[in-house]
Amino acid sequence: MQGPLFVVVRGRHVLLVLLAVLVGVLMGTSAWMARVRPAAAPLSDAISGRIVAIDAGHGGPDPGAIGVSGAREKDITLAIALKLEQLLRRGAVYTVMTRTGDYDLVQGEPTAHRQREDLRRRAGLVNDSGAHLFVSLHANSFPSPVWSGAQTFYLDGEENGRRLAEAIQQSLVEKLGPNRRRARPADLRILRDAKVPAALVEVGFMSNPEEERRLQDPEYQWRVAEAIADGIFAFLSAQYADSRR
Ligand SMILES: [Zn+2]
Repeated sequence: MQGPLFVVVRGRHVLLVLLAVLVGVLMGTSAWMARVRPAAAPLSDAISGRIVAIDAGHGGPDPGAIGVSGAREKDITLAIALKLEQLLRRGAVYTVMTRTGDYDLVQGEPTAHRQREDLRRRAGLVNDSGAHLFVSLHANSFPSPVWSGAQTFYLDGEENGRRLAEAIQQSLVEKLGPNRRRARPADLRILRDAKVPAALVEVGFMSNPEEERRLQDPEYQWRVAEAIADGIFAFLSAQYADSRR
């Protein structure tokens, strides 16, 4: 019995090996075709392979703003940043994160100007990463509870930063409105230090009880992330269209 059984097993092995080779060849061929074939959709041409740097504002010992019921800006920015990362990757966009957890970039190093040093390192990380554009996420807080709505900022005089911020703001208004806020110039260190088109998104007001509640809701965080991702895609598409003119 041992002889024939061995042959049968061997026969199965041969079939399996042949099948594996066939699958491998097919996969290799399709991968090769995917590489050499130009993408059909203009959007994928415009965005695939681009690198977007995402900065979740604050972190570690720096909680950022504290909401009316105690929510921390650093937690909200991180939650939205991680969702934005997923959405961009689904669009075949590479991402670079300044942080992916609850920490800042000055860990264990006492410094008299820790926040400034942290911001300097975030910008350095972005500039060294080969990123094509940069988005920093924050949440607003004001003494008055009446203000609400997301708002995007860019460095005054930076044409590409303005276009990026306007694309993101438009998407935020369309998808999260009602919101009459427009993209505005602002002299912010992280925007100044970034060497690529950069925008800073204040995703909402934590001093507004309703907005603070929404910003902690994962479903709403996904909607904010989607709006920002769509704004980034719109900016990249416009930039790509310009480069082909
Ligand atoms: Zn902030």
